Amino acid sequence: METLIYGGPVFTAEIDNLQLGWAVLIADKRITAVGPLDELTARAPQATRLDVGQRTILPGLIDAHRHLIGPSAAEITPELIASGAILGVRVAQDTLTAGITTVRDPGCKHDAIFELRRAIHAGLVPGPAIYAAGRNPTGQAAPRRWRNHYVRGPWEMRQAVRELARDGADWIKLVASHTTPASGWKFCQRYLTDEEIQAAVDETHALGMRISAHTEGLEAARSLVNAGADAIEHGTVLDDDLVRRMADLGTFLVPTLWLYTHDYDPATTTLDQLQAYRAFEAEHSRGFQRALQAGVPIAVGTDAITDLPPADCLVIELELMHALGMNTSAALRATTVGGAGVLGLADRLGRLAPGYQADVIAVKGDPLKDLRALTQVDLVIQRGRVCVSKLASTHTTGS
Ligand SMILES: [Zn+2]
Repeated sequence: METLIYGGPVFTAEIDNLQLGWAVLIADKRITAVGPLDELTARAPQATRLDVGQRTILPGLIDAHRHLIGPSAAEITPELIASGAILGVRVAQDTLTAGITTVRDPGCKHDAIFELRRAIHAGLVPGPAIYAAGRNPTGQAAPRRWRNHYVRGPWEMRQAVRELARDGADWIKLVASHTTPASGWKFCQRYLTDEEIQAAVDETHALGMRISAHTEGLEAARSLVNAGADAIEHGTVLDDDLVRRMADLGTFLVPTLWLYTHDYDPATTTLDQLQAYRAFEAEHSRGFQRALQAGVPIAVGTDAITDLPPADCLVIELELMHALGMNTSAALRATTVGGAGVLGLADRLGRLAPGYQADVIAVKGDPLKDLRALTQVDLVIQRGRVCVSKLASTHTTGS
């Protein structure tokens, strides 16, 4: 069965501008054609017609760093798993409703994230397609409440990667380093050695998977890039030399700027500490700008954890990128093409183009003029199926 989506401007993520008078033709789970409405109508006269009524048509959004199952703790208990899974079902639904059709999930303390992924894929519950990392290999100094899998040395690292691959991880996320609040955000602890990182990258690539890491501070970022990692998460300090190399190598940056606008506890933070935190945040912004200027591939991740309005934080992240110099078209490409790229799926996901997965949304307004248009998602089509529609029913006509 074919469906013709038309009635508003189209942002393909391949061309900077909106295409007026265009339409998108989908059949089953794929896009079969994108182009002028009259051409597509002639090509598929029997297609079901879906009129979006002036809304902007664009690819489904991709959050490249979102924890669908947020709760974590030092110990894995039955309660942690059960409550996390229940919450995850609700968060997944909210996320899809916000137009986010794909999530790269960077960490969960337990295996419920794999079950959630399976349930969504099987159509049991609504939600975005999930690409999950599962537990995050790291060293013993990393906080116990995080989603860690502790390793000692390169051989245990290789073993951890093999086990994660066996147990269902789609990609590997390490925790390489962390700037500690206790040091007033002045000291970055490294949890993994160069040897451990290299072992993880080699083992992951040998298994045909992609690898990234929670990376703060310049040294850890260098170590990841030197080892051949596919991406770095956060990247709070990046210098000119490193961003040049990332651009050359095609190493993705998932900056999660929004996270660092509020990642401190106001109740326990003194004024001095807050100033230090703001300096740390400013350095992060400068690193992002360096990466942007150097042409580092960028994907958009919110680091949203559970109880947050999903649409808003992705849009806030895009607005922060825009405020730091990324134009709106590039921001939209980062959360579509970029998200697909960091997953290694750039040839089939994140664009409105023939052969690509039929993930299509429609929003009120023009997101190229104002990114906040993305908060008004009225249509979500995932793998060719209408999941959310606030269009008037008269707009859909079969033939
Ligand atoms: Zn995270």
